[in-house]
Formats: sequence, structure tokens, C-alpha cells
Amino acid sequence: MVAGGDLLTPEIVSVPWQRLILYPAGWYTRNITVAPSLSLPTGLRPFTALRVERTEAATIHFETTTLETLLDAPVLAGRYAAQVPLTAAVHGAVSLDLVALREEDLNVPSARLRELRNLIKQIRSVFGSPPFLRYEILTRLSDDGSSGGTEHRSSSEIGLASSHFKDWPGQILFRDLIAHEIVHAWNGFYRTPADLWAPTPNVPVSGSLLWMYEGQTEFWGRVLATRAGQFTQAELRDRLAIEAAETAARPGRAWRSLSDDVNYPAFMLRQSVPWRDWQRRRDYYSEGVMLWLAVDAKLRELSEGRQNIDNFARLFFAGATLDAPTRTYTFEDICRTLNELAPADWKTFLRGWIDAHDELDTTVGLTQHGWQLTFTDIPTSAFRASEDESGVADLTYSLGLTVRDSGSVTTVAWGGPAFRAGLRPGVRVLAVNAAPFTREVLLAAVRSSGGRPIMLTIDRDNRNVDVSINYTGTLRYPRLERVDGRADTLSALLAPR
Ligand SMILES: [Zn+2]
Repeated sequence: MVAGGDLLTPEIVSVPWQRLILYPAGWYTRNITVAPSLSLPTGLRPFTALRVERTEAATIHFETTTLETLLDAPVLAGRYAAQVPLTAAVHGAVSLDLVALREEDLNVPSARLRELRNLIKQIRSVFGSPPFLRYEILTRLSDDGSSGGTEHRSSSEIGLASSHFKDWPGQILFRDLIAHEIVHAWNGFYRTPADLWAPTPNVPVSGSLLWMYEGQTEFWGRVLATRAGQFTQAELRDRLAIEAAETAARPGRAWRSLSDDVNYPAFMLRQSVPWRDWQRRRDYYSEGVMLWLAVDAKLRELSEGRQNIDNFARLFFAGATLDAPTRTYTFEDICRTLNELAPADWKTFLRGWIDAHDELDTTVGLTQHGWQLTFTDIPTSAFRASEDESGVADLTYSLGLTVRDSGSVTTVAWGGPAFRAGLRPGVRVLAVNAAPFTREVLLAAVRSSGGRPIMLTIDRDNRNVDVSINYTGTLRYPRLERVDGRADTLSALLAPR
């Protein structure tokens, strides 16, 4: 994902070297040495994983390095900038490098810093020695509403809302973004899928193991952020309920398996995808979380509780050092490590997930962990945060649509009640049962429909049309509830180490 915002403004400069260089194509980038330098406008403080040799006036001269390292070490510079160490200044030190639009945005509440320091400890307790000398969390705080991250071996580019650290309740979807990107130093850079590695950037790569590269990283982001205190266990369960519902109800699973969805970045990267639930798009993140929950549950079951996913990570990512070259892995390597922990036919188990269609119950791991997906008429706070993030009322699991306060319909669930009534993204709801549209009027109409169809007047292609949605239920929002008689091993998974 691109950490949002412009690359160049008077206050903030991002330098992604890969967009700026000419290089001899076809040669291993790790064998090409470069001596980079960078001139910045005065008053901008730079952060980067590159090591500075000397600074002359406005020009920074970096130590000679390889092209491979340079391409993986962007610079972020800002007028309002601060560096907060999260560990002692030893081998493997991590710092939070903040660049903001205003001086006051640089003040991070001490509770947030305490959690970030816990996070580094929790990551180290699973993954062990780091594949970096020091690690820079290059964080850009902005008002443009974009959040996202890009991983590197010794740094990450993180885009967050200016209010991120202060408006913690509203940030439930992004609290584990930093955890996710740091985990990539191990799961992505120290070890990377064989078909995703290339010696030089002009060689195409493919993503057959993205359910491991992104899926397990997303899983660890959720787990480690909770172990560090960035989520309470209840908040994390509400978060998991959202993706459990999303994957369980994905109509696109009828035709597209996860092992096909991983091809998406090869031809549609960063393009918007209409009807995402039917097309699928990057489902290997959220479905990956469900998959690795199931793997953890199965490891525990096979070993009567002696093995779990922590042991997998310790074994699979062991041996990281500063100078360790990237070690590639294959599907068989994943199976072999799982088999060392708990002998079983892991190949069939994993293929049963990634090649499956909608016959697979993707919530099975959660259920084995003692929690099941259910729906109630009151949204969880995580669900509300997700509605706020998209700026919609999310009725995906009832009427089958999401709608902005303006009445503009942003998504329609494929095959759902609104879909069957002829709605599609882009139409605007003008009235609900003859009353002018507001979000509250629509919610009230669903709540009190008593089995009667809901009449909508919509603007479709500049024509007003009345449609009738046959939906007999009430509002439905996902959450998790305990499975009677099953041990709650999810709590054990989420407990700090
Ligand atoms: Zn990622």
C-alpha cells in the first residue's frame, strides 16, 4: 500500500529512490554500489534507514551502499519532525520518526508510546533476533484521510491521520498498521516467497504465497498489537468479527479461490475494483487472518496444546541477522516447518484453504478457538469505526448496501436484497418509504419494517425511480460470541508473552 499524500510539499518531502534512478538493467542490484546524496530545502529534517556519512550545507551524503539497499531505504523529511526512540540504542534499535503538518501533532500521548515499546518487545519475543541494525518507522501524519503502509527491511513508510495517536477510539482499523509493517522485516524481507524475489527490479515477480507474505503478517499485526495493549482483547474480537463476516459472506469465493486472488496485484494493483465482494481483491489479507487462526488452532489440537503459531514463527524465521541474505521459501517449506511441530498432512490442509470455494467455512479457526460469528442489531464500536472510516452507513448484512449521508450508494452486496431490487453503486437514495432520505430514516425503516418491503426512491442516471427491497429481517451487524463448552484459546493466543 502507498502511504498516502503528495511526495513533495513545502513542509514534507518523500524520496522513493526507485522512482528517481537509472540503473543497469539485468545486473544483481546487491552487486551494484552507489554513493547517494540528497539536497533538501532548508529547515527540513530527514529520516531514513540509510547511514549518513556527512552533511554539507543542505546536502546529505550517505555512506556507500548497494543499489538493493538504496531501493529499499526511502527518505522522509519534514519541517515539523520528531524522533522518539522505542528501544535502547543497541543492535536492533527501533525509533518512531514523525513528520507532521503542525508542531502540536508531534506530541504522542505517553500511553501510546508505552504500547509501541511493548510492541517491539512482543515482536522480538516471537521473531527473535532482527534482520536490521536499526529500524526507522517513517511516519507521516496528515489530514488527507489516507492511511496505509509500505514495508522495507530496515524501515517502513506509514501514513496515518494527524489525529491518529490522540483519537485512539476512532483508530481501531489502523492501530496495528505499525505492527504489520515491522513484522514484514522478517516475513517479507529476511524470508520471502521464492517467486516474489527478483535479483533486479526489471524482472517480474508473482505472488502465489501472498496468503503467507501478507496473510500471516496481517495475522501477526492483529495478535502482536493486542499483546502490546494497542487493542483490548474485546476490541480485537470485534475487529476479527468484521473480517470473519466479510470472508464468510464473500460471494466471489463461489468462483475465485484464494490461490487465484493472489494474482490480483499482477494486473490490477492500485486500481479501484467495483463489486469487490464478487471480484475479490486482496482478500489474502483478511482471509489470511482466518487461515492462520485455523493453523494455530490445528497446531494446538494436534499437539494437545504443546505447539502453536508462535513456535512456527520462531522456527520459520530463525537465524535473522543484520547481514543475513534474504532466504527464499516455497509452499513445501511452510508445510515442512508445520510438520516438524505437529506431524499431519499440512499440504492437504493448506491447499484445502487456498484452493477452496464457498464450501469452506472460513470461521472454523475462530470456532475451534472458542468463538463463533453471530449477528446482532447493534453494531460494535469497531464496526462503527469502520463505517466512519468509509463515511457510510454499512447495511451489507441486512439490506445489502452501504450508503453515504448524501444518499449516494457506494457498494451493493452481490446477490443481496438491494442487488435483487436493481440497485447498483452510484445511484442516490432520495426517499425511504416516501420520507426524505437520512441515515436515521433508513435505519428506522429497516428496524420497523415488520416484514413489509422497503420502498426507496432513487436517482438512477438522472431519473427518479421507485424500487422495493424485499428484506424481512432487521439490522444485522457482526460480532463474536463464546462457543459453549469449548476452551477459549483465542485469549491464550492474544495474551502478552
Ligand atoms: Zn503488508
